[in-house]
Amino acid sequence: MIDGYNRDISYLRVSITDRCNLRCQYCVPKEGLSRVGHDDILRYEEIIRIVMVAVKMGIRKVRITGGEPLVRRGVVDFIATLNLIDGLEDISLTTNAVLLEETAERLYQAGVRRINISLDSLDPGKYKEITRGGNLEAVLRGIQKAHEVGFQPIKINVVTIQGFNDDEALQFAELTMDRPYQVRFIELMPFGFAGMESLGKHLPNDDLKERINRRYTLEISPKARSQNDGPADLYRIRGGQGEIGFISPLSHQFCSTCNRLRLTSSGRLRACLLLDDEIDVLSPLREGCTNQELAGLLQLAVTKKPVTHDLNIEERHMKKCLTEMTSIGG
Ligand code: SAM
Repeated sequence: MIDGYNRDISYLRVSITDRCNLRCQYCVPKEGLSRVGHDDILRYEEIIRIVMVAVKMGIRKVRITGGEPLVRRGVVDFIATLNLIDGLEDISLTTNAVLLEETAERLYQAGVRRINISLDSLDPGKYKEITRGGNLEAVLRGIQKAHEVGFQPIKINVVTIQGFNDDEALQFAELTMDRPYQVRFIELMPFGFAGMESLGKHLPNDDLKERINRRYTLEISPKARSQNDGPADLYRIRGGQGEIGFISPLSHQFCSTCNRLRLTSSGRLRACLLLDDEIDVLSPLREGCTNQELAGLLQLAVTKKPVTHDLNIEERHMKKCLTEMTSIGG
């Protein structure tokens, strides 16, 4: 599927739930979010049908996300079924790793090899604070287990928040010294309900890179040009086993290489993380649409892809997306 700007759309991110076992401050309001009812969430069979059609149209990679995907019952069997789809080359997962220790082995058997883990602090108290109650120990055990089971790569995603965790940049970078982890620093986006609060907490990745460079020599990673690296600028500390990535949606926009479509847990196709103009596939599915009609909706979503997002750190450009990250899937 080629969009209006000559980008080959081959990657589908599927949010399987809007529920999460954490309440990260920049993602979810303290009082929580109103949840979509069970009947209005895509059933696994429905997701599988959408993916089968999408693969016929050129999708080759699927990432399972949420909310927190590991809280949805039956997720491992669902992934194992997804893995049977002919032509689907890659299934990956994004998780907060709270439940990873107990699930890692089964996920691997189901066919997942690549895993992204969100982790914003290595300090138990700060982790608890930013996630409103999360237990860092469980996450670290989950990462260790994923390493033992053989996931490769294991990417650790750190959303950088000025004044909160920017002082941990070196510590995060050092995780790559003797483990083959890819630690990726992601710029905080003024997005959704928490957008206002995010203003002023944005830290450009160039600043962070410079701080790490002052202590260690960062060299461009040999893996920097591989197809699976996505939007990260990849480096490694000289002599280190892993990589350090910088994902900079604000300071170095990467829209020109965007190859993604998103499917929300409530069955909406989304052409861009930051564009609320969604296409409903849940209703047509339940009204008995054909695969050809489904294909038409996927194609329509592709035509809606904007040339670039208009997110900016200035308040006047701040994005008040109607759909929250928990439903879209980050
Ligand atoms: N629960 C899973 C997890 O924790 O990875 C998957 C969903 S979570 C919404 C996906 C990612 O979105 C997380 O890495 C989170 O940090 C990121 N995210 C949420 N809000 C964000 C924001 N305003 N700016 C940047 N990243 C954000």
